This record gives sequence, C-alpha cells and structure tokens, in this order.
Amino acid sequence: MYLCTNNFRAAGLSALLTIMLSLTSAAIANDAPKAGVTPATALNRLVAGNQRFASGKMTRPNDDPARIKSLASGQAPFVTVLSCSDSRVPPELVFDQGLGDVFTVRVAGNIADAAAIGSIEYAAAHLGSSLIIVMGHEKCGAVTGALDAKNGKKDSIPGIAALLDSIVPAYDSVNANLGRDAQVHAGIEANVLQTVAKLKELPELKSVMVSRGIWILGAIYDVSTGKVRFLKTP
Ligand SMILES: [Zn+2]
Repeated sequence: MYLCTNNFRAAGLSALLTIMLSLTSAAIANDAPKAGVTPATALNRLVAGNQRFASGKMTRPNDDPARIKSLASGQAPFVTVLSCSDSRVPPELVFDQGLGDVFTVRVAGNIADAAAIGSIEYAAAHLGSSLIIVMGHEKCGAVTGALDAKNGKKDSIPGIAALLDSIVPAYDSVNANLGRDAQVHAGIEANVLQTVAKLKELPELKSVMVSRGIWILGAIYDVSTGKVRFLKTP
C-alpha cells in the first residue's frame, strides 16, 4: 500500500511537472521577442520619466483599465531594471512608468545572484528588452553593511551575511583611508559597476549585446533628490 501510494504520488508529480513544463513553454512562446524601442530611446524615456518624477510632474502613464486589458495577452517591457529592494527605490515610480513598461528585478544591494541573472536573461532573450539598467542608490543599507563586513563586523544572520559578502569585493577599488560615509558613497557606485561587469560577461547577455545591440548601464538613485544619475552610456 505504501509503495502504491508512492507510485501514485510519483505518477501525479510527473504529470504535474509535464503540465507545468508545457505551460512554461507556452508562456515563453507567447512572449517571443517583439520589435521594441532602441536602447537610446529606452534610455531617453527613463531620463524624461525621472525628470517628471523628481520635479513632481508625474504623468503616471499606462496604468488604466485599457492598459491592463491590452497586456493580458503578453508583455514587451522596453527596459529591464535590477534595483535594490529598498522601499525608497521602486523603478516604476522613480522613472514614472506604468504597467508593462519595466521588467523589474529587485534584490537588496542590487546584486546579480543566480535568480536575478536568470530573470534578466529571460527579459533579454524572451521579452525583447533592449536596455538593462543596474540601479544602486545613495544611503544603501546593504552596501553600508558590506563595508562593516569587510571590516570584520559580519552580520550574525547567515543569509544576510552571504548577501553582504557578495558586495564586499566592490570595496577593493575604494580608498580605505576615506571616511566611512565617503567609502559607502564610493562603494555604492563600485557595487553597481561590479554588477554591470558581471552581467556583461554572461555568454547569454554577450550574445544579445552583439546580435541585438542591447545596452547594459549603471545608474545611481539619490534618495534625497529623487534624481537618477546614469553612470555612462556606450
Ligand atoms: Zn539598498
């Protein structure tokens, strides 16, 4: 009876897995790359949207019932943003964008862990995003915690400690003689550049950079002004 139950469970799981896989394949097929905007146009949209946001002149586009309906059959976000989970840095708000505009990946410290990388690759390969932004922000608690970790003050919670450890190498390029705030300020930019460099080395993203000319850029959000500073353009 025990074996029968297990076999039955195994068969059920196998069937469920088959259904899930076919659903996933169907979802990917429906999400085939669509003709999107160029990286330069995508960047201009973000710059303009952030200017509206920072000056209190948001238009909050693409957030009405018609937009909900138009997106029911699929999505084609023009940009992918990897940002910190910090509650002050929601990409859709700070760039004044709406539903279906931004493929957002958020993790504390805007690090590119395996799940973040998979998400970004999905958007680049299957959704047609032409621009990838890695956005850090001033006063980032994760980057501040990484400086403490580097100086021997590790977080006692293993999950947090592991996350901070992945940011620590960014401080290799930061002058350790600077004051704490200056080190964190520099570390925030170094951490963004570290993530950008990591993404640019991924074979899958390298391939779409060549074949479709997508851009991968860094940016820093200022929590005091609401303004985003882009680190460089290709
Ligand atoms: Zn942060």
